[in-house]
Amino acid sequence: MTVTRFAPSPTGYLHVGNLRTALFNYLIAKKAGGQFILRLDDTDPERSKPEYADAIKQDLEWLGIEWDRVETQSSRLDRYADAADKLREIGRFYEAFETPTELDLKRKKQLNMGKPPVYDRAALALTDDEKAKLRAERGSGVWRFKLDHARINWTDGILGDISIDAASVSDPVLIRGDGQVLYTIASVVDDTDMGITHVVRGSDHVTNTATQIQIIEALGGTVPSFAHHSLLTGPQGEALSKRLGTLALRDLRENGVEPLALLSHMARIGSSDPIELRSSMDELVEGFDLPRFGSAPTKFDVDDLYPLTAKHLHGLDLSSVKSDLGSLNIPEDTQAAFWAVARENITTRHDIAKWWDLCQNGADPVIDAEDKDFVAEALALLPDGPYSDQSWSDWTSKVKEATGRKGRGLFMPLRKALTGMDHGPDMSQLLPLLQNIKAK
Ligand code: GLU
Repeated sequence: MTVTRFAPSPTGYLHVGNLRTALFNYLIAKKAGGQFILRLDDTDPERSKPEYADAIKQDLEWLGIEWDRVETQSSRLDRYADAADKLREIGRFYEAFETPTELDLKRKKQLNMGKPPVYDRAALALTDDEKAKLRAERGSGVWRFKLDHARINWTDGILGDISIDAASVSDPVLIRGDGQVLYTIASVVDDTDMGITHVVRGSDHVTNTATQIQIIEALGGTVPSFAHHSLLTGPQGEALSKRLGTLALRDLRENGVEPLALLSHMARIGSSDPIELRSSMDELVEGFDLPRFGSAPTKFDVDDLYPLTAKHLHGLDLSSVKSDLGSLNIPEDTQAAFWAVARENITTRHDIAKWWDLCQNGADPVIDAEDKDFVAEALALLPDGPYSDQSWSDWTSKVKEATGRKGRGLFMPLRKALTGMDHGPDMSQLLPLLQNIKAK
């Protein structure tokens, strides 16, 4: 069975970059009729916060990305300790005592000599006595996984054939001096224990994947299929990392972006398939094909989400917005007529309230100087409401007859006087909804 996972660290809010990872893993599981696990990578006790874990769940729920179960790394520490023991037993784990400053110095020397800054494995040469002395002086060391200096190969679901020379990578630290288990080993143990078959994550994890493949093999696990999606950039190709804070999913929700608009966009940017608005998660699953994604950085422009949001809203029938209309206290018998007028004229759901306000209270009229007399004459011909869907044409015919104006010169000043705008819904549909006309 296909089993995937989305493994965010609950150290902040999800943003558009994380969403891509979540969505790809979710769609792969759903397409295969498999399982999708939400895994909270919370081994960092200082930075992980329960409120972020809750926020991650809320954001995924808002989008309709449902998980089959939740796992938390903090409750699996004994499993990681077992794995560490095993690595020690088989001679693939060693304690190293260099301070960060010492490591930095080593790196600088290597770089000066034109060499890659790979950890030199000095700790492997330490005798037991030397280690005991260092431990007494500096406390426990970090624990590094001893890579096997061979090439590490895999066929990536997006990048194709990858081959990395393990000798070009530092032996990864899996456990810190204070005993804190790090992501690399926790992730490997979890992926193996949970039977994860496919891992999709950002291309910033490619080197991790190389080392993780060796750790999985050392622990006797089955290596999942890996795929690395490109990272998002801003519209001009600029790094998005600094702006990701402003692209949190909760901010997009707050700003009125519709879940299906966001998902439709995310399920397609960076692929060779066109972006198409989908009307359900099933359609997204149907239209998703991992090999169609490219390795080049993917441009993301938050503004692209609004036309898709508008398009989604334009397609909604009354039943899908009942609760929005109800919460504005729009009477039942007015809702259908109101929605018919409003839906094509909104970009986000927030705009519904603006149109209802206009219907209830009227808009501040916009009357150009040259239309002043004309509008006054026209308004004198407008009977008091309520209006029917005939009222607009009856009224404008009378105005035309009385003033001789026609076409745009007739209609536009009246639209602007009644709505304060030079564009908007069909006036014959809007007029019956207007309970107050400020210009009158
Ligand atoms: N917690 C890791 C991250 O958010 C997970 C990476 C992975 O998918 O293995 O980067």
